[in-house]
Amino acid sequence: MTDYIVRAAAADYQIRAFAATTKGVAETARKAHNTSPVATAALGRLLTAGAMMGSMMKGADDVLTLKIKGSGPLGGITVTADSSADVKGYVNNPMVLIHAKPNGKLDVSGAVGKGELTVIRDIGMKEPYVGQTALVSGEIAEDLTYYYAVSEQTPSSVALGVLMDKDTNTVRQAGGFIIQLMPDASEEVISALEKRLGEITSVTALLESGMTPEDILKSLLGDMGLQILDRMPARFHCNCSKERVRKAVVSVGRKELENMIAEGKPIEVNCHFCNTNYEFAVEELREILTECDH
Ligand SMILES: [Zn+2]
Repeated sequence: MTDYIVRAAAADYQIRAFAATTKGVAETARKAHNTSPVATAALGRLLTAGAMMGSMMKGADDVLTLKIKGSGPLGGITVTADSSADVKGYVNNPMVLIHAKPNGKLDVSGAVGKGELTVIRDIGMKEPYVGQTALVSGEIAEDLTYYYAVSEQTPSSVALGVLMDKDTNTVRQAGGFIIQLMPDASEEVISALEKRLGEITSVTALLESGMTPEDILKSLLGDMGLQILDRMPARFHCNCSKERVRKAVVSVGRKELENMIAEGKPIEVNCHFCNTNYEFAVEELREILTECDH
């Protein structure tokens, strides 16, 4: 996998910028969840945003969660990421099939519908930081741009894209960028950036033409004093394990466990994030019951 995020600044730190290539992230998610093309695009876009937004956090244990709840057939999308750009996620209804838009593009907004976007940052404080805004289009990038403006008062431009290979139904390109204006940004910098952003085609078209995340940032900010700060790998990664799932089974309580044992059949527990199934034999359930204190 060659997925990574580039972090950069421009115009003497009046602008900060992130750009990512995430084909591997989106394709790993597609395979894990067996998602339809439109579900792959929606999930891949939110995973790409999650990886970049995760990389903005500082602590090794910080966790970012992005949740989209929509009235459309996808039902919802959940993504979590950490500060090293490990990201995982799922859609509620992975098999959704929906007509493409008249221009041939996958209808992500139609699959998402109307609803809300919630951003939760757990950075080790007593309470996590939670922000929520209404979806403005359901295309995800625009929804995050709106979220940043309204909930965090940070003018931002978010672009996200997933391009499917129509023959194989696998992910051909995925990536995105987030460009943010710092509070001290001058009118000059703002209008120069707006002009550049207005000229850009889709991010997947840029990746498809062979451009790297660095190239994309150069094309946007190259004449504005772009400084590439670092480059960080991104990957779809779930930290579930049988041991972690076992703790969840312990927490269901004595009565429920006794019922499961009485059924006399193994149980299967599914990790929503990576779709891995963990099986617990009746014998294991009996053992878990002895650890149960409620
Ligand atoms: Zn998992």
